[in-house]
Amino acid sequence: MKFESYSFAPDILRAISECGYESMTPIQQQAIPAVRRGQDVLASAQTGTGKTAAFVLPLLQRMIDAPKARVSGQPRALILAPTRELVAQVAANAKEYARYLDIEVINLIGGVKTSSQANKLRRGADIVVATPGRLMEHINQGNISLAQLDFLVLDEADRMLDMGFIKDINEIRHLANDNRQNLMFSATFSGGVRQLAQQILKKPKVITA
Ligand code: AMP
Repeated sequence: MKFESYSFAPDILRAISECGYESMTPIQQQAIPAVRRGQDVLASAQTGTGKTAAFVLPLLQRMIDAPKARVSGQPRALILAPTRELVAQVAANAKEYARYLDIEVINLIGGVKTSSQANKLRRGADIVVATPGRLMEHINQGNISLAQLDFLVLDEADRMLDMGFIKDINEIRHLANDNRQNLMFSATFSGGVRQLAQQILKKPKVITA
């Protein structure tokens, strides 16, 4: 299946084509239509399957379909991932896919001064990619509010649970706007992942690619 079949905006198709992608991977074929419909998604997907594009591309399309002014400290989309490396990778991919759009992507990871990240938040970011720990620091410092969040993505949910982030994730989801779309990606569906999915997702489309 080609990306053109899903009527992405020309500015998204141009970025995809510059990445060298031609056909959708299996996870993309299943996740993209569901995310574009606005449905919650629970997907089992390993790294290397194209899962990042499977959630970022339809999110970008939804964001440009319903444009909103950028508000200081109030992102529209939050993507949580377990490690600095993964956060940096996801944010770099998202920036590539959004390169022709008026959508700001920033990452929040440990090992970088919170003050420079706080400045970027203040200037306004549409998509924030973060580790749960560093995000909580910014929440506690009052640098970010999740009250306007339209999209919450948990990437590698099983690893976030293994790393002990459940308390942070629970706090974050309680602070987030209730009326939002939720996407969860995980290599495995352990008991903990299922429980979290039940708490977070509303009538999800379950995908195993
Ligand atoms: P991920 O599973 O998101 O880590 O992606 C693994 C790799 O696949 C990354 O290098 C992506 O740039 C690449 N990729 C994602 N989607 C496609 C696609 N449809 N065609 C070719 N490569 C892709």
